[in-house]
Amino acid sequence: MNRKACIIGAGPNGLAAAIVLAQAGMPVDVLEAESTPGGAARTLELTLPGFQHDFGSAVFPLGAGSPFFSSLPLSSHGLQWIHSPAALAHPLDDGTAVTLERDLNETLGSLGVDGPAWDKLMRPFVERWSEFAPEILGPVRMLPRHPWLMARFGMVALQPAQAVARRFRGPRTRALFAGLAAHSFLSLDEPLSAAFGVLMAVSGHAVGWPIPRGGGQSLTNALCSFLSTLGGKVTTSLPVQNLAELADYELFLCDVTPRQLIKVGGQRLSESYQRRLGRFRYGAGVFKVDYALNAPIPWKASDCSRAATVHLGGGFEEIAASEKAVRSGQHADHPFVLLAQPSLFDDARAPAGKHTAWAYCHVPNGSNVNVLEKLENQIERFAPGFRDCVLARRVFSPADLENMDANLVGGDIGGGTVDLRQFLFRPTWRQYATSARDIYICSASTPPGGGVHGMCGYHAAKLALSRLRGR
Ligand SMILES: Cc1cc2nc3c(=O)[nH]c(=O)nc-3n(C[C@H](O)[C@H](O)[C@H](O)COP(=O)(O)OP(=O)(O)OC[C@H]3O[C@@H](n4cnc5c(N)ncnc54)[C@H](O)[C@@H]3O)c2cc1C
Repeated sequence: MNRKACIIGAGPNGLAAAIVLAQAGMPVDVLEAESTPGGAARTLELTLPGFQHDFGSAVFPLGAGSPFFSSLPLSSHGLQWIHSPAALAHPLDDGTAVTLERDLNETLGSLGVDGPAWDKLMRPFVERWSEFAPEILGPVRMLPRHPWLMARFGMVALQPAQAVARRFRGPRTRALFAGLAAHSFLSLDEPLSAAFGVLMAVSGHAVGWPIPRGGGQSLTNALCSFLSTLGGKVTTSLPVQNLAELADYELFLCDVTPRQLIKVGGQRLSESYQRRLGRFRYGAGVFKVDYALNAPIPWKASDCSRAATVHLGGGFEEIAASEKAVRSGQHADHPFVLLAQPSLFDDARAPAGKHTAWAYCHVPNGSNVNVLEKLENQIERFAPGFRDCVLARRVFSPADLENMDANLVGGDIGGGTVDLRQFLFRPTWRQYATSARDIYICSASTPPGGGVHGMCGYHAAKLALSRLRGR
């Protein structure tokens, strides 16, 4: 194949698409707007010298569990996964924490009366992860390869998290499930919010919630390095304004969201397709803080120090109220906070004896309200004395995030809301295809959506290749 392909954007999906095309023998150029490749999988010195912070993604259950990434020799290109002893800790006001252990049986033991209900909900998907992951990390098929497994998932997934949480009698298990389901950015009484709760838990048990040694940049660097062995080239600091200016290419795969596609695609896209893209809805934004710390976070519950990820938000009702407020355009008084503390398990992140942490909460899309105090109050609630450990902090409003990665529209880190409609038709009924036969969209705004797994790029590139071959 000697046709030349151009990928716009070197995020995980752009790089995945580039690798699929290069593996098929196509010459590939990747053009990236920022000076460092990776999009929301970059690691940068954001606070003080020697402190390495994940600008975006920090914990990679779907990266480690991605069928495509798992098929690549990324460990030979420097990628090393680190698993904290527990995948996740969720502290409660009684000074203890409930944990998501990688080992399902160990988790069951700690969930008490709810152990059997958790087991019944999660085990079928944990045990069949290698069949489940390709189904769930791709476009919805009318005829799935594993119809019974997917029917079983669909029956739970389509429900609100609130309904599924009724299976659990204990407040600890309900709190754990609420935090997992809140990754959906949906209100927990909305359909599909349960899908995220189950997927996050199942991935934790099946593959863990690992962090890459050195940060998300190590995954990006491994992808770039492997791509270069296939002849692909990444050029940075090159924002693409208009595809019409790029004359040398026969195929474009755009790792951008619908709003940007309208801009770069311009007259190449039909008016009706542009109108459909214009109707795509973005989700809530995030307000994020990176910390340089002079000590580990002083958690009340010692179990929190066993996990790279900590969910802060108390019980089910409080987390549900926080997510409902954001979904209806308000700021929660007690926001649900997701916190990562990678330096506890990876000494490449901070100078000896020092630490890094990353925390964010959901806010309405494009919000310019400073919620730093509310976010830190949630950390202090479960780790009194936290503020005394802070050497430096870097705050990112939704606009700051978008300035550093144009795909983070209004601070939306998932490439658009994943409600029922945008789950099925993402970003339009055409999914990866557009109204122009040589232009495809391959970002998190296509199935299966947000997260570092590269599967949007993988499926878009596979479709482009099959249509090229068919022509
Ligand atoms: C704060 C934060 C925390 C997150 N936490 C996690 C997590 O812990 N785990 C997880 O799995 N996921 C997490 N995510 C989500 C995950 O990072 C994204 O879903 C994922 O990076 C999407 O990949 P992508 O390739 O579609 O887009 P991006 O990673 O956003 O990459 C898009 C790239 O395209 C470039 N680009 C855009 N427009 C142009 C243009 N016109 N010309 C050239 N280049 C262009 C951008 O500069 C960028 O490099 C997080 C994201 C953020 C922001």
